[in-house]
Amino acid sequence: MPAIEIDALEKSYGDVKALSGVDLTVPEGSFFGLLGPNGAGKTTFINILVGLVRATGGTAKVFGHDVESEYQAARDCIGLAPQEFNVDRFFPIREVLAHKAGYHGISKERARNRAAKVLKRVGIYEKRNTRFDWLSGGMKRRFVLARALITNPDLLILDEPTAGVDVQLRRELWETITKLNEGGTTILLTTHYIEEAERLCDEVAILDSGRVIDVASPETLMNRGTDDIVVKLRD
Ligand code: ATP
Repeated sequence: MPAIEIDALEKSYGDVKALSGVDLTVPEGSFFGLLGPNGAGKTTFINILVGLVRATGGTAKVFGHDVESEYQAARDCIGLAPQEFNVDRFFPIREVLAHKAGYHGISKERARNRAAKVLKRVGIYEKRNTRFDWLSGGMKRRFVLARALITNPDLLILDEPTAGVDVQLRRELWETITKLNEGGTTILLTTHYIEEAERLCDEVAILDSGRVIDVASPETLMNRGTDDIVVKLRD
């Protein structure tokens, strides 16, 4: 069963068509890239998958669950690391994680263990008693990844996880998420950087003005280096 199955998906905000008939299949276990310039519709696409935005047409399924009619079942499969962090800033990060796990029905004891495990996995366990505000920018990114992992999701969605981070941290984040994918987690990653997609993804869909204009391996895209859209995504 595919991790994500999208059929004729549409979203309009008034006169603005953010998505215009998107069809897409993301295979289970893959590392899939959604590549596109500013305003292409990437965040809208993700927001529909996680139930934050309602599509105006078409269907979206996550591991066979319709994101609207079977919202909870679909949402339980997904861990989301959004662009906007929106984290409770006043509590130690381990408590924020345990609280989130509790919200998903995980018992207190297991929630604490799980929080420790994901903090170790992303490499910030020693900061467990620190509050979010006091973390460095790079640690904040790692924490948001830990938060997405707290429910042990089958599908991890990363919305521009390395936007604005330095080269060293970008490499470290790449390594962490590659390991997660090797462990069996399906990953959907949005990015503006074609080089990032090339480094990480098995397959990439290019979204432009709300339409999927191509689905290909990153190598195929790079070899088409003179296409307008590829040139735009290199800048
Ligand atoms: P970026 O890379 O800049 O984050 P994106 O590919 O994620 O862009 P979206 O944020 O999905 O693109 O936006 C797609 C289009 O929909 C844009 O034209 C945007 O202005 C519009 N849009 C997004 N959200 C809203 C909203 N709440 N109300 C009106 N228009 C919106």
